Amino acid sequence: MILSIASGKGGTGKTTVSVNLALSLGQVQLIDCDVEEPNDNIFIKADIEGSQDVSVEIPQIDPERCLNCGACANFCNFNAIVDLPSGIKIFPSLCHSCGGCKLVCQNDAISWKDKKIGYIRRGKKDDILFYDGFLDVGESRPTPIIKSLKYQIGTDIDTILDCPPGTSCSFLETVNGSDFCILVTEQTPFGFNDLKIAVEALKKMDIPFGVVINRDGIGDDEIEIFCKKETIPILLKIPYNKDIAKLYSKGESFIDCFPEISRQLVYTFYSIKSMIT
Ligand code: SF4
Ligand code: SF4
Repeated sequence: MILSIASGKGGTGKTTVSVNLALSLGQVQLIDCDVEEPNDNIFIKADIEGSQDVSVEIPQIDPERCLNCGACANFCNFNAIVDLPSGIKIFPSLCHSCGGCKLVCQNDAISWKDKKIGYIRRGKKDDILFYDGFLDVGESRPTPIIKSLKYQIGTDIDTILDCPPGTSCSFLETVNGSDFCILVTEQTPFGFNDLKIAVEALKKMDIPFGVVINRDGIGDDEIEIFCKKETIPILLKIPYNKDIAKLYSKGESFIDCFPEISRQLVYTFYSIKSMIT
């Protein structure tokens, strides 16, 4: 099973659920797809065994062949090629490697070159296979790194994908292909608003999902009313507890101090698994 763990809003406890679920289960793959701010390994403490650069292809122009016709600049919707009085200029960090500029060039003046935008790492913590990825500073395209991470998904082991926060393309890239998505939320107006956006996205992608309410006991009951109305299962409520927050701030999991919640996470996981198979 590929289980993605997401939250419309950052800071709701997505990482807490991902790492504590992985540590409670064991024999699982945990992939931290939040490549702009990966922090699962603060809690997992995996031994890193290797890393691999991630590159994208960007165009380069052969000045000998370029006719300065401007067709490539006109085509590029991302303003990554600009037709300047001094000639055609490429801005690699804006390029989405769509390939369109090369297609419209009538004089075969465009070829490709690799540009590194980040890297992924693999490691191990007991029987947990761990992966995370890092987008280089100044780069704006997390999705190729997320794709590289998702190539590591094994077919013979359950996989937990810790999604990036929000509902932008990096979230969509991560959840795409998941068998189920857990939406971690909190009972606050911001949590509720962003939950609704994530729910709409998952419905459109036809990915089954359920909700975990974190820090239960604070805020109002709007989310529960919403879930009831929309027939969205509330899979688990993790109570608000200062000691869980203290453990988080020290980079520690809660499975030893809160074994009952750990058991409930495992139970939730297997309930989902039986629901989708
Ligand atoms: S389309 Fe080709 S020939 Fe025209 S400006 Fe771009 S690179 Fe040069
Ligand atoms: S590959 Fe696509 S995004 Fe990149 S410069 Fe060419 S047209 Fe623009």
